Amino acid sequence: LPRLASPETETDPARTAFFLDFDGTLAPIVDDPARAILPAPTRASIIRLNQACSGALAIVSGRSIAQLDLLLHPLILPVAGVHGLERRSASGQVSRVAVDSDVQQDLTKAAQSFVSRHVGILAEAKPGSLALHYRRRPDLERECLAFCHACAHACPAIHLVYGKMVIEMKLDTRTKGDAIADFMSEEPFRGRRPFFAGDDLTDEAGFSRVAAMDGITVKIGEGPTSARYRLQDTASLAALLQKIAN
Ligand SMILES: [Mg+2]
Repeated sequence: LPRLASPETETDPARTAFFLDFDGTLAPIVDDPARAILPAPTRASIIRLNQACSGALAIVSGRSIAQLDLLLHPLILPVAGVHGLERRSASGQVSRVAVDSDVQQDLTKAAQSFVSRHVGILAEAKPGSLALHYRRRPDLERECLAFCHACAHACPAIHLVYGKMVIEMKLDTRTKGDAIADFMSEEPFRGRRPFFAGDDLTDEAGFSRVAAMDGITVKIGEGPTSARYRLQDTASLAALLQKIAN
């Protein structure tokens, strides 16, 4: 299998729908997620590719749409946020899964109390989810997992999602794969061949959905994956996107 080959030979931008994860895929991972930036060459590649594919390009991330808009500024792209719990279509329509706001409030309070007792852990409240980042305190991984497991045990609405130095408590079962499928049913994505690049465990749901549509799947970095291709890092992906666009 061509795991180490480059996928540009089989990717025609005029017939492809591009779905790209953000952190670890377009932007290098940094200790504090609030400090992530999109490198200028990558931004240029995305702009160029977005033109080449006539706007059939969406960001599919665990971040909220609000955060993604800030990070991509001044670009306004179709986006799926919070692993598919919220989505903005190419026509600008925003959809969000309805979650129990009492549960969300209780969860936020419990997480705030947990981080106040565990210095260096970041609690990030998003629409429909709460993420605990322990990148600055990997020694507290076990405590974070135990806390999230206890929350999930107490509340069946919580679904745990594991990422790189982050564990997330989602209040819905939707995945990145579901968000990609929704985009694929709409213009300008409909009828194209999907392409999805991602780096983390949550991207596997996207890979399997895209593979089922005979699409192109690209894993960034190390770790087990069902993706067909693998690239070493975010810079390699930016170079690939540039090549495809040209
Ligand atoms: Mg990622």
